Amino acid sequence: MIMTTFDIGYFKAVIEEMAAMIEVERDYLTSLDSSIGDGDHGINLSIGFRDVSKQLEQFDTAAENISTLFKKVGMSLLGKVGGASGPLYGSFFLKMGVAAQNKQAVSFAEFVEMYRAGVTAVQNRGKAELGDKTMIDAMLPAMDYLTQHQEADDVAAIMQEALVVMKQGAESTDNIVAKKGRALRLGERAIGHRDPGAESSWKLFECFVKKLG
Ligand SMILES: [Mg+2]
Repeated sequence: MIMTTFDIGYFKAVIEEMAAMIEVERDYLTSLDSSIGDGDHGINLSIGFRDVSKQLEQFDTAAENISTLFKKVGMSLLGKVGGASGPLYGSFFLKMGVAAQNKQAVSFAEFVEMYRAGVTAVQNRGKAELGDKTMIDAMLPAMDYLTQHQEADDVAAIMQEALVVMKQGAESTDNIVAKKGRALRLGERAIGHRDPGAESSWKLFECFVKKLG
């Protein structure tokens, strides 16, 4: 059996990949938010992840651990990102960090536990249910998929499949009205537009997949 460990170096590389991805996708994410929100999602995440990148310049993986890494990311996003997504993504990373229990490396099942803690934090903050046209529509199906397969050996395949599930969840927001967030006011006019948070959440998850093995 091949044991995949998710260590501090892996997670630091994932966060750097996230920061780079947000720069590339900034205008696209903002354009999604322009259609049904206030047009700042990509810009806000870019401001947040630029601060994250700055924090990581001083980050010593030998002296730190996964919890302190994710806490730094969460605090940056909480402090710098405006709109609804700052508190949501900030809580997501903070709670993933708490669940890592100051370890330098975690198993796949422990990673899934971290992810579950992050998604639960988003749910607790945003109070969104499945089908409300929010990032939960992407995160929750992936969380369930990962939980069902957390003891599997082929971690890379499970992660790839969880990503597919997330993308499908994001696509499902195209054809529903919003029950949370700014798009709520649009009613039926929100139909035909993807939720920006659902889209950014699978793109962030893709960074975990990309940096595997
Ligand atoms: Mg916005």
